Amino acid sequence: MESPNAEVEPELLDDDIPEADEPTPAVHGDLIASDRIDPDAVKVLKRLTRHGHKAYLVGGGVRDLLLSHEPKDFDVATSARPNEVRKLFRNCRIIGRRFRLAHILFAGGKIIEVATFRRDPTQAEDNGVIVSEDDNGTQSLLPPPKERGDDADLLIRHDNTFGLPHEDAIRRDFTINGLFYDLDRHEVIDYVGGVPDLEQRVVRTIGQPDVRFREDPVRILRAIKFSARLDLGIAPDVYDAMVDQRAELSRSAPPRVLEEIMRLLRGGAAQRSIYIAWDVGVLAVVLPELTAHLEDEADGAERLWDRLGAIDRMHADGRLPGDAVLIAALLFGPLEEAVAGTRDPGGAFEDFFEEMVERLALPRRTRDRVRLIFAAQRRFDRARIGPLRRREFFADAGALCEVRCLADGRALPEWLDREKEPGSTSSPPPARRRRRSRRR
Ligand code: ATP
Ligand code: MG
Repeated sequence: MESPNAEVEPELLDDDIPEADEPTPAVHGDLIASDRIDPDAVKVLKRLTRHGHKAYLVGGGVRDLLLSHEPKDFDVATSARPNEVRKLFRNCRIIGRRFRLAHILFAGGKIIEVATFRRDPTQAEDNGVIVSEDDNGTQSLLPPPKERGDDADLLIRHDNTFGLPHEDAIRRDFTINGLFYDLDRHEVIDYVGGVPDLEQRVVRTIGQPDVRFREDPVRILRAIKFSARLDLGIAPDVYDAMVDQRAELSRSAPPRVLEEIMRLLRGGAAQRSIYIAWDVGVLAVVLPELTAHLEDEADGAERLWDRLGAIDRMHADGRLPGDAVLIAALLFGPLEEAVAGTRDPGGAFEDFFEEMVERLALPRRTRDRVRLIFAAQRRFDRARIGPLRRREFFADAGALCEVRCLADGRALPEWLDREKEPGSTSSPPPARRRRRSRRR
């Protein structure tokens, strides 16, 4: 642990980073009360700046504080290189092979992520940064124009390189996510017009929306997430670009797409998120089976919205179910349709589900669990709980049953109600009952 008065070593100073070319950002004082910032994030910021580095709070944490939401995490961007960060923190782990980030570990498993300022590598050749001015005289930076003929391949396949703060701001996806907070000066530093967009409650890309979505189509799902979760509008040109570029999502790495779908389901606004995804036409790209089910007006198709509403209620109660339950609830309609009236529901399920599993690169564990908890519903519906109670997936199967009951406005079955009583667990019942159920 260094003493607060320790001499700053010369090699830790940021004299290798020129400051002269940096554009002037809009600066907003006193928008954030310092006591709302996580004390461990404060420690990290203070130690970095004390050693001569620039260090700001960035991204979702700043955005959420400005919107008076509880931030999920606090990320730090700094001029210090990863090895410099490591020297300053004992509790530091460097992660990432191609782009190294520092994770500073604190009690309770808390991690403060510290990333060196970086830029989009295609920015590197262009040193011109465009400053745009809106009607109110607010200046913002735009990423330099890129080759954007209709067949130009803009998909970003390589990692970013170290850069300056303004470059780090403009490589980010949306203006609301491109803000820095300077703790010492109590100032929000805005290179991208994020503060006015937060005031107007609108999601806007940094730079041209069609270019930014083609570079990374997962941003389309992220726009949906922020709009739904934070109840923000989407700028009209951004919305149009989402519609135009939605097919590009099939070029993104499936695990990233899956993770963003999961975030749409987990964020407390699953119903609104999936509705926007349907409206934009994104659902037809990532889950065509579900769109077909909705658009064919299959029996009970509209129940989807009630199931998603139920997930949001469970989230609000602090009882968000796990991934397999979320996926099973999302796909319950088409899955039910696929197995309806077949003699071999297991086979019909696999035929239907396999393609989806491939497309989304669903992990084997989740896939198996979706299968098990879906099959359990038919037993539950016939009140045949029996040995299921002892299975390791029983709690998840019960959670799916609860989603369905809430969606249908049905009372929870007695066995499920009992499971949820305080102090109850889904551990195996006493031996006597176990024997009895085995004989059945
Ligand atoms: P959440 O509250 O869901 O975590 P977040 O904004 O913190 O939202 P993260 O995925 O944690 O989102 O990413 C942190 C920050 O990294 C974002 O705020 C944004 O500035 C930047 N970022 C993340 N994904 C992208 C992307 N695909 N393209 C550009 N910038 C991104
Ligand atoms: Mg985050």
